[in-house]
Amino acid sequence: MVRFQGVVKRFGAHTVIDGLDLAIARGEKLALIGPSGSGKTTVLRMLMTLERLDAGVIWVDGEPLTQVQRHGKTVPADSAHLRRVRGKIGMVFQQFNLFPHMTALKNCMEAPITVLGLSRREAEERAVDLLAMVGLADKKHHYPNQLSGGQQQRVAIARALAMRPKVMLFDEVTSALDPELVGEVLNVIRKLGAEHDLTMLMVTHQMGFAKEFADRIALFHGGKIEEDGPPATFFTNPRSERTRQFLRAVL
Ligand code: ATP
Repeated sequence: MVRFQGVVKRFGAHTVIDGLDLAIARGEKLALIGPSGSGKTTVLRMLMTLERLDAGVIWVDGEPLTQVQRHGKTVPADSAHLRRVRGKIGMVFQQFNLFPHMTALKNCMEAPITVLGLSRREAEERAVDLLAMVGLADKKHHYPNQLSGGQQQRVAIARALAMRPKVMLFDEVTSALDPELVGEVLNVIRKLGAEHDLTMLMVTHQMGFAKEFADRIALFHGGKIEEDGPPATFFTNPRSERTRQFLRAVL
């Protein structure tokens, strides 16, 4: 569903992603873990086309994200192609990034109307269903500043889902929350995990959750995958010394 092929990203002289090869199957739930500054967020941002690649290709659902074939040549994709392929991906950030002047309902209706061209009625029906799914049916007319951090984050998840993405990206979505609010957000992610077709990539520091939820854990180090595998072997029998060191420090 998603494939990074020889992807390189530099910030000035600093190579942050160093020839990344990573494939994520349709429906797979992958947790990206690793030391601070190892490039995890940059991986998600590149998928959202928020960062340009310096080399390599990212494939989404069989199509290159930032390139197209024209007259037998590979050329940079135009904005219509980018919008279409990017439309398959939804992202939830550490800071909820809701529109402060819109209610929870309006936050979830905005992009489906303006980007997908849904009617107000269709967009509202979709938003109402999704807000119910994240347990906020009774808060739909609240503004972000009338909601707790956990509730805002659940609205942010509903808003991303309103675009019917095939891939959902979660970037440390519980890091900005008070500890007592973490569980409600993780519960929503668990619920989404039951959707077998939805591919999920999450950057997380919550090792317990990664272990229980993900199909596969990938440890990032120095802009590459150091080791990846199913939680059962990754946590109990890691192959690499770096993975063992990282796990000793965080568990
Ligand atoms: P954390 O767990 O702390 O969020 P991370 O693994 O997600 O870290 P990234 O945020 O992807 O790491 O950052 C990787 C490296 O790239 C860091 O050294 C960071 O300082 C650098 N970096 C990220 N964005 C930029 C930018 N816009 N300009 C310059 N350097 C950047």
